[in-house]
Amino acid sequence: MKNNRGNLFVVSGPSGTGKGTICKALLEKRDDVVLSVSATSRSPRPGEENGVHYFFLTEEEFRNNIDNGQMLEHAVFCGNYYGTPKAYVEEMLAAGKNVILEIEVQGAMQVRAKHPEGVYVFVMPPSLQELRERLVGRGTEALEVVEQRLKTAEREFGYIEKYNYIVVNDDIDAAVNRFSAIIDAERCRMERNIEFIKEVCEG
Ligand code: 5GP
Repeated sequence: MKNNRGNLFVVSGPSGTGKGTICKALLEKRDDVVLSVSATSRSPRPGEENGVHYFFLTEEEFRNNIDNGQMLEHAVFCGNYYGTPKAYVEEMLAAGKNVILEIEVQGAMQVRAKHPEGVYVFVMPPSLQELRERLVGRGTEALEVVEQRLKTAEREFGYIEKYNYIVVNDDIDAAVNRFSAIIDAERCRMERNIEFIKEVCEG
């Protein structure tokens, strides 16, 4: 089929909704999906590797990358810089891959302004109570950080209507299947297949 360019998927949702787990599972399930590795100025959590989970930069390095035009978007979230290096995203879209950016809402809105053709997916917990339990249970953050992230979550919910889809993570396998169905459905959108349609209809 013509139109070999991949689609851009931007995934947001409060910390603890499991969006990272969903994205990782999609990556394993589908070879047409790649995940953008973000840059951040926050410290690595135990087990996180530079270049795999994030590119861990100093604030100064991060600001230089912004000034040099290397970031597709960037935001300050809970006191740390986060941003998407532009080159990899462009390269993968051109190579026909579906590129997933797992980013918070401010960054997502910057991408939306530049890429209205992108697909915006908001991952939701089944309830706020469940979200709190997941964040506390994860044990990687101090309790005050959990409280800060819950407040941030409530602010993030205010952006839901800017997204095209919501995926409720009540069950990880079901959530991954729903997301995968969205990827397939978007590939079938008429307006993403203009060249193919012309080729068939006009011989
Ligand atoms: P965490 O510190 O838990 O890994 O991530 C905190 C938040 O930053 C999450 O909501 C995550 O989606 C978001 N985030 C990760 N990478 C990026 C990025 O490149 N840009 C933006 N704007 N947000 C990001």
